[in-house]
Amino acid sequence: MNQEAWRDALQLASMMAESNPAAPASNPDLGTAVLERPEEKTEEQRSDTGDADRFAHYVSRDRIMESQITGRPVVALCGKVWVPKHDPSQYPICPDCKRIYDEMMR
Ligand SMILES: [Zn+2]
Repeated sequence: MNQEAWRDALQLASMMAESNPAAPASNPDLGTAVLERPEEKTEEQRSDTGDADRFAHYVSRDRIMESQITGRPVVALCGKVWVPKHDPSQYPICPDCKRIYDEMMR
């Protein structure tokens, strides 16, 4: 795929709420299945306040549209899986997504 196609296909979506870490990134179709993993819920290795998730990530536009219809989670360039609901313009761009995106535009 060439750069223009990528630029056209990708869109920013914000990472907030409804995050669904239990959904396997490789198979978003399982998004409706609830996986109970109580042991992993209590302690997550992340920076603290949860602000780490307040980023806008690059996601395939088709996936976003599909998510809005089906309610299924999307997969960002960086591998984040969640259901986008918030306005991405209010959040900084995810550094991982930006790096991957920039490399694709090179
Ligand atoms: Zn990201």
